[in-house]
Amino acid sequence: MAEPLRSLAPEPPRTSYVETYYGPAAGAEAQRPALDGRIETDACVVGGGLAGLTAALELARRGRKVCVLEGRRLGWGASGRNGGFVSPGYSARYETVERQVGADDANTLHRLSIEGAGAVAANLDRLGVADADRVDGLLATSRYEAAAELQARRDWLEREFDYRVEFRSRDQVRDVLVSPRYFQALYNPHAFHLNPLNYARALAREIERLGGEIFEASPATGLVREGAVGVVAAGSGQVRAKDVVIACGGYTGSLSPRLRRSYLPIATYVMLTKPDKALIAQAIRTPAAIGDGRRAGDYYRLVDGGERILWGGKITTRTTEPRRLARLLHQGMVSTSPQLANLAVDMAWSGLMAYARHLMPQIGRLGEGLWYCTAFGGHGLNTTAIGGQLVAEAIAGDSDRYRLFEPFGLTWNGGLAGRCAVQAAYWAMQASDRIRERRWLA
Ligand SMILES: Cc1cc2nc3c(=O)[nH]c(=O)nc-3n(C[C@H](O)[C@H](O)[C@H](O)COP(=O)(O)OP(=O)(O)OC[C@H]3O[C@@H](n4cnc5c(N)ncnc54)[C@H](O)[C@@H]3O)c2cc1C
Repeated sequence: MAEPLRSLAPEPPRTSYVETYYGPAAGAEAQRPALDGRIETDACVVGGGLAGLTAALELARRGRKVCVLEGRRLGWGASGRNGGFVSPGYSARYETVERQVGADDANTLHRLSIEGAGAVAANLDRLGVADADRVDGLLATSRYEAAAELQARRDWLEREFDYRVEFRSRDQVRDVLVSPRYFQALYNPHAFHLNPLNYARALAREIERLGGEIFEASPATGLVREGAVGVVAAGSGQVRAKDVVIACGGYTGSLSPRLRRSYLPIATYVMLTKPDKALIAQAIRTPAAIGDGRRAGDYYRLVDGGERILWGGKITTRTTEPRRLARLLHQGMVSTSPQLANLAVDMAWSGLMAYARHLMPQIGRLGEGLWYCTAFGGHGLNTTAIGGQLVAEAIAGDSDRYRLFEPFGLTWNGGLAGRCAVQAAYWAMQASDRIRERRWLA
């Protein structure tokens, strides 16, 4: 007889993803049916974000029969409402990872993160996802004098990873970003930005083309093991599968209490300006994605052919949306580019990311046939690509590369104290960013 492992009360909706820049596309695709009745499959993936969809696609490519259960709509979570920056790296700093796992594994992990960004690019090409609107290039700027530091980083990337990025002097940066805030930058021609929701939808179509099944409005509410089979309950249906993958990101409820206790949901924000190409061109003259080197920095990019800016920044452990959200983000934009003071905000939204205390992804096995693929933080576009890939490789018996993430593990999130500590650390980072910057503005 089956022992119920857990039941789940799905979290209430936050901002609807249809109220984002990517929303019109979301509304354009007919909703897939909810699960009804009993199905049997090789693998059941819970969560229709980029982690779950990539895992399902990679399994389908290996000939496995897969099904995806999404509680709301595909890409409804962070994956369908993020900034769209795709670049190598993790939320954790390289030096911190190296201290924990040693030089060799840190190097391998960084290579994996490069592989993740490459996997997204390869999928875009292979699936011909024109509506993902891929634009190449990422300008990682510094808001203080950092020529030597950036040149050393450029050299290190080339030496260690054969990964070439280009140094930009202060004058070169200010040619394309007319702001007194910026100093030098590294330009990464391999990084790119895209419409993440349309990318997610393309993965979903490919899963279905390969015979996989996808159910929306089907929150998994229970998970039990009956011998060699995992049984997932969702609405009036049930999926029986040899392998179950939990990929619920920052929206993970109590389906797995162990997972729920091992990450913190962290909110972050994005706004979209009204169109005004001429005004925007007074401040921003590059189609590349733009980030700054502050530990709590802003990131932005032009969309609609330079008509509008999509601007992201700020994080908080408070998961409700602040009422002054649009004003907060607008202030950040104007403090960088005063020319844009009269550029109005069209819409602003938030989303939840999952962060483990170690800031690395959580990819691994909870028990026989039960896998997790989550906690990609604010660096999820490349890392969900490797997370999904590694879990699929493990299930198919192709590799045990997922074990590279074992040293980080499912550490306790610290409860309320953990949440307060993260918020305090973020404020401290903001303060030290400001102090550092002010020294150069004086
Ligand atoms: C505003 C914002 C901007 C960001 N910008 C960037 C960026 O520019 N570049 C970058 O690399 N990263 C960025 N990130 C981070 C990145 O979006 C995430 O790390 C990544 O999308 C996480 O993907 P995921 O599949 O793990 O989770 P999600 O995309 O959140 O997907 C989880 C899904 O699981 C579903 N779910 C939850 N519980 C259940 C259940 N019981 N049953 C069924 N389904 C369930 C949810 O409905 C959701 O659709 C940003 C994040 C946010 C919020």
